Amino acid sequence: MREKTKAIKVGNIVIGGDNPISIQTMYKKPLTIGVDEILADMRHYASYGCDIIRFSVPDADCVDNLKKVCDAGIMPVVADIHFDYKLALASIEAGVAKVRINPGNIGAEWKVAEVIKACKETGTPIRIGINGGSLPSSLRHISLEEGIMQAAEAEVEILQKYNFDNALFSLKASTEDVTLLVNRAFAKRYNYPLHLGVTEAGTLIPSLVKSSYVLVNLLREGIGSTIRVSISDIPDYEVIAGKEILKTAGLEGYSKGVRVVSCPRCGRASFDNGGAFVKELEAYLQTVKKDICVAVMGCVVNGPGEAKEADLGITGAGNTIIIFKNGEVLKKVDIKDAMEEFKNEIEKF
Ligand code: SF4
Repeated sequence: MREKTKAIKVGNIVIGGDNPISIQTMYKKPLTIGVDEILADMRHYASYGCDIIRFSVPDADCVDNLKKVCDAGIMPVVADIHFDYKLALASIEAGVAKVRINPGNIGAEWKVAEVIKACKETGTPIRIGINGGSLPSSLRHISLEEGIMQAAEAEVEILQKYNFDNALFSLKASTEDVTLLVNRAFAKRYNYPLHLGVTEAGTLIPSLVKSSYVLVNLLREGIGSTIRVSISDIPDYEVIAGKEILKTAGLEGYSKGVRVVSCPRCGRASFDNGGAFVKELEAYLQTVKKDICVAVMGCVVNGPGEAKEADLGITGAGNTIIIFKNGEVLKKVDIKDAMEEFKNEIEKF
């Protein structure tokens, strides 16, 4: 068993050590839109199980709203900084719970040292985010994995030189195998917590496939303390995917949410278990904090039997909807009452 990583406090969430794996997303609209809209979005992501949110801070115009978003206290806020170390300093002053810098583009070491100095004064942790696509030019003549590892080693040396260990790392590449390789190599050598993700993972389906492959494998090996599933789509999907990956990885003590099983549907189906009903049900289930299994099946012929492992299930039988519990019929309801009745049973379970 590998030695546990350091535990790093990011607002009210602790990353690393024995703490649960936290789920992150990144805000996809500019910080300069209205604060009310941002806070409503953050509450929505929090209801889905998002633990930490990161904002791009591309210029000084963002800093006022960044401060308001931090002050609202909905969840820990991370500032994502590229190129300009002064924006990191302004974000730290605004009260962010963590600052993420990319050493490949932040420039001279003294700039990183300035950020470290400010973080020491405020107790703010730093995520060193190393991306295969933005390595310093001096590392581009070697293999991608060597380049990422050498960039990481150089950053560890800088942190040690300035006696700063309140840090996490992420080592990302858009190639799954390289991401696996560098994270394994890093975890063997260092005990900084790792933020896992596959960068530029693509649209919904490609990202789900790549991210699941990489993250489930690493998490099962005990590597990774926080995750972000990067998807070219709404943050809701990133958060939901994060929860599903943690469930699939089967990590001990992780039971935040409901496990849904559903049949693939065939010509026998008399209930649209892939349609609007399931979409509404899934949105509701994301807010349920119960360790239960729910089945949504297309027909009664095989439905309850195929889903007998489920605690609660629903299926169609002609014009009627059947709700079942542990494989036995619990009640028959009209389609118009089905959603409400099923939610009631989930609440009661
Ligand atoms: S439960 Fe019914 S609809 Fe779903 S795959 Fe099985 S037979 Fe087809």
